[in-house]
Amino acid sequence: MENPLVDILYTQNWDSSTKFSIKVTKPLHTEVTPYQRIDFFDSETYGRFFTLDGLMMVTQKDEFAYHDMIAHVPMATNPDIKRVLIIGGGDGGTSREICRYKHIESVDLVEIDERVVRLCQQYLPQTAGHIANEPRLHLHFEDGLNYVKNKPDASYDLILVDSTDPIGSGEGLFTTEFYRQCFRVLSDEGILINQHESPYYSFHVKEMRKAHRKIKDVFPIVRVYQYNIATYPSGHWLFGFASKKYDPVRDHQAERWEAFGLKTMYYNSQIHEGAFALPTFVNEMLAGT
Ligand code: SAM
Repeated sequence: MENPLVDILYTQNWDSSTKFSIKVTKPLHTEVTPYQRIDFFDSETYGRFFTLDGLMMVTQKDEFAYHDMIAHVPMATNPDIKRVLIIGGGDGGTSREICRYKHIESVDLVEIDERVVRLCQQYLPQTAGHIANEPRLHLHFEDGLNYVKNKPDASYDLILVDSTDPIGSGEGLFTTEFYRQCFRVLSDEGILINQHESPYYSFHVKEMRKAHRKIKDVFPIVRVYQYNIATYPSGHWLFGFASKKYDPVRDHQAERWEAFGLKTMYYNSQIHEGAFALPTFVNEMLAGT
């Protein structure tokens, strides 16, 4: 008989004020690490998925939206990016997209919790299948803030912060100290992409505004772009784009990006420019920061 406790799984919002439910066909694995609780499940509608501390991370069905938008927007702004740092991203989806560019020389993936990587390799080959045999990808199991503090100036052309929300172990990745270190370790053409949360829930908005303010204090060019992802709270999410030199719309290199010949399910050159056109209420939220 099915276990009624896991038959329908409710993935939480931070404050549990709203929940999203998925009918689970099979619970696969549960583990508590020093950093978080990790759960993997199978479902009919969203395929295999995993949560950290009850928060949705990746589903097989909609992960393409997040991973396309975190990886391809900066690559189409500066197609000459060669050295990439990913902070978090233990599921592998972001590094999978970056490694599709043949000219990328190295990708450092800094994930605090090795178990996320190992379990994704076991249960989610869709995002983590490349990890074992991609020679340009280097894994580092440590805190992202510590890692950047110890890197020399101008070590990277692109930093992708693919972290959990600004609570628990992810908190340090939303501090001014962290953004300053990112600025220092980026080259003069460097770009930083980070989570900007959802514009619908007050606790997300508060954190998004704080992070936006801090990034603006550090980087000369700061923009925000949006995307839709069905299984994250509200389905409407934002990324922050910060750069030393390039504006993602003014300097968009559509022809060069299209020449790479990558097939993508969410990202395209029209989405690239459209994503920076924000609804008025989002502009107003950001204007006050
Ligand atoms: N796409 C997901 C989302 O937005 O919900 C994020 C996916 S990825 C699984 C997030 C990863 O960030 C987790 O595996 C977590 O262990 C890692 N993480 C959290 N804090 C971190 C830190 N300070 N340094 C490095 N990795 C961190």
